Amino acid sequence: MGKGKWILRRAAKAAAANVLHYTGLRRAIASARRLRCGGRRVLILSYHRVVEDFTGAVQTSIPGLLVSRETFRRQLLDLRASGYEFLSMSDALEVIAGRRRAQGDVCVVTFDDGYRDVYLNAFPVLKELGVPAVVYVPSGYVGSGRRFNHDRIYHLFRILQTRGFRPVYEALPAAAAGVVEPLLAGQLTAAAAVDAFLSEQPGGIALRLIEALGAQLGGGPELLPEGGEVMGWDELREMADAGIEVGAHTVSHTVLPLESQEQAEWEIRASKAQLEQQLGRPCVHFAYCNGWYSEELVRVLAQAGFRSAVTTEDLPNRVGGDPFTLKRKVLWENFSLGFDGTYSSRVTGCQLDDVFSTLGGGRVVLGRKPQRGPLGPLSPFTEPETLAGGR
Ligand SMILES: [Zn+2]
Repeated sequence: MGKGKWILRRAAKAAAANVLHYTGLRRAIASARRLRCGGRRVLILSYHRVVEDFTGAVQTSIPGLLVSRETFRRQLLDLRASGYEFLSMSDALEVIAGRRRAQGDVCVVTFDDGYRDVYLNAFPVLKELGVPAVVYVPSGYVGSGRRFNHDRIYHLFRILQTRGFRPVYEALPAAAAGVVEPLLAGQLTAAAAVDAFLSEQPGGIALRLIEALGAQLGGGPELLPEGGEVMGWDELREMADAGIEVGAHTVSHTVLPLESQEQAEWEIRASKAQLEQQLGRPCVHFAYCNGWYSEELVRVLAQAGFRSAVTTEDLPNRVGGDPFTLKRKVLWENFSLGFDGTYSSRVTGCQLDDVFSTLGGGRVVLGRKPQRGPLGPLSPFTEPETLAGGR
């Protein structure tokens, strides 16, 4: 989307937020939705990175993964002011199961991927406001210094864009041309191109793309993104000791339905074992990478001793609903932007109440996928021993 069009859309949202606020329509829509999901709202929020300075970080990182510490803090304060009670995932599960009655609407704060900036910038805010949270970490990345495939590919795509570099497609994985061509033609943003590639390709193919593009770009340290490291075990232990729940997010950050079932099972069981061994406490919550899951995976998670798993389906959670396909709302910096490009409590309120999507007939992206079979055509690249990563 061009910048002008984007600003227009933002202005329309901000104007609508004001009208909805003054007419009371926002409250009416919110309470109608609340009735449909059993009277209580269990809102689960999904964050990724929390940075000191959004404007600086967005120059080099995937925008949709970023929120500034200040915006994050204001979002939590707005939630509390609108009556949400913050619960841990374990307590929220009791509400969803109908075993615990909540005073009002409840909210669970979650972070995917275990970026170090969550420890540095979100953890102090959570402590200050007394808000519980879950951090879902890919166990193979903790303390490793390695960057995620999504961040590495994004960085490489940005280099292709700025250098105007057209790679030799024959030397790349077959699917690469289908996203790199539209990227260089300006039809896809770098973030959309990363999404398009990783939502179709297993971790082994992603690594081959990184290697092959890196070789064509001449190698060198500038091909690795600067930020985006994952926290270490000591930082994770400190958060766990302070009451933050630590959930599993596979070992190698891989989109499970794209992998063979054997690899997927290993990712689930090994991540749980590693987190429990390192943190000395049970690990019972799981987040699907990219939000994608399958019926087989739900069964494996339950058998492995997990109690919940979260998707990125932006739908209401219902009392009595399936704890292994919990719905979440993804938040980032621009979720809350008002007319003048600064934080707007009204826009935040409308977004949290799904008012824009209700009025605009917004489309929800569903995460249920078929599971790749035990002898999938790509299994040679996905040996269980490797820590090859997807997103
Ligand atoms: Zn993730």
